[in-house]
Amino acid sequence: MVPLVQVEKLEKRFGEVCALDRVTFEVEAGEWIAIMGPSGSGKTTLINILGGLDHPSAGRVVVDGLEIGNLGERELTRYRADKIGFVFQQFHLVPYLTALENVMLAQYFHSITDEKEAAQALGRVGLSDRLTHVPAELSGGEQQRVAIARALINQPKVILADEPTGNLDEANEAVVLKLLRELHDAGHTILVVTHSQAIGNLADRRVELEHGRLARITVPSMAKE
Ligand code: ADP
Ligand code: MG
Repeated sequence: MVPLVQVEKLEKRFGEVCALDRVTFEVEAGEWIAIMGPSGSGKTTLINILGGLDHPSAGRVVVDGLEIGNLGERELTRYRADKIGFVFQQFHLVPYLTALENVMLAQYFHSITDEKEAAQALGRVGLSDRLTHVPAELSGGEQQRVAIARALINQPKVILADEPTGNLDEANEAVVLKLLRELHDAGHTILVVTHSQAIGNLADRRVELEHGRLARITVPSMAKE
């Protein structure tokens, strides 16, 4: 079986800073990977390159058969819309659009909008009664659930989440964690940057970075409950 994601000797330099230093790993379809490591170890840089938001300095990244280091800006835009669902720490919702419109905007960038489908996606994250609320009228946890609905709406091959619970309290972290679990159970491939041991323990494997290098890949203990 060909892995869904292949990262080979990936390097990213910002001037003198080597943010990623020959990082190599693979991800099978359906796997849940936690990317962990201290602040500044290259986690966001890795997620950004996998998501086509930044270019590698060297090395190879293949996602779903596509070598993304070779793609131009137009192709990268298409790649992001077709294959990637993003969830960010800061939610990044459009402030003047409702929850429903925020999800429909992602449909629009992908192909065509479908209000009923967008409403169903919000239903899946438990927000059927918040469709017409704008972000300022939603709690942090609710905003992150809108962002998750948006990430899922175009059936991405890979879900990339950068500290999705970093701005949430414990109760909302638990809600997002439960959603990630459901997505994993439904067969989605998830790469999530996290400092949360709870999320790290639920993942299939933990990719641990230190100073831009792959320090180790660990499998959480089998006692998952
Ligand atoms: P993490 O997400 O693990 O905290 P980052 O990937 O954000 O780490 O950053 C890794 C290293 O690369 C850090 O030393 C950071 O300062 C540097 N870095 C990240 N982005 C840039 C950039 N756009 N320009 C210059 N340096 C950057
Ligand atoms: Mg980061």
